[in-house]
Amino acid sequence: MAGAAALGGVGAAEALAARPGGGRAPHPKTPEEALRLLQAGNKRYRQEKLQLRDYSPVGEKRAAEQQPFAAIITCADSRISPELVFDVERGNLFVSRIAGNGIDSGTLGSTEYAVGVLGVKLVVVLGHSDCGAVKAAISVVTEGKAYPSSKYGAIGQFIDLLVPTVKSLPDDERTLARCVPANAIAQAQDLARRGPIVAPAIAAGAIQVVAGVYNIANGAVSFVK
Ligand SMILES: [Zn+2]
Repeated sequence: MAGAAALGGVGAAEALAARPGGGRAPHPKTPEEALRLLQAGNKRYRQEKLQLRDYSPVGEKRAAEQQPFAAIITCADSRISPELVFDVERGNLFVSRIAGNGIDSGTLGSTEYAVGVLGVKLVVVLGHSDCGAVKAAISVVTEGKAYPSSKYGAIGQFIDLLVPTVKSLPDDERTLARCVPANAIAQAQDLARRGPIVAPAIAAGAIQVVAGVYNIANGAVSFVK
């Protein structure tokens, strides 16, 4: 990547100091502005025009506080790196991960903290292409596959979060290409209904909850409805 080549190069500190923003965190005032920041960052990522980032220790000031502008709930898949995909700084995104990007007590509570305490403007439920958890949920519905805890430990628990959405689709739509966006949308809708923090924040216009799908092959994030 053109941008990546410069990251560790000689003169990186000078380049960082010179670039617009100088490494400071953006502070969007609205959910729409936060979404535009993520979309612009993803465009830079796809075009291999990542802004130069400072990956050195953050220093005392930034170690003592965080002001993320968006919360992301995404899959544990090793090929997803939200800060890279959206080309933002450490400290900009509050990320919760669970295989299949479902809403469980962990991802819900973490996101409630991001909304209620940290004041993020936007929540993104981010699914992705080639998701193994969604594949597993499809196999449960279409092949009767089971994940008993005696053999699979807690693996079945995150798959169970995805099964209702696969079941809700007609037989001929239970494909990975269809189920991945359907799951991201369903989880976002589930999250948006949750009280006492998320639903009231949406009603007040303080946040938006959106669903997205990350295409691992080309890096594009599509925001889906
Ligand atoms: Zn996945």
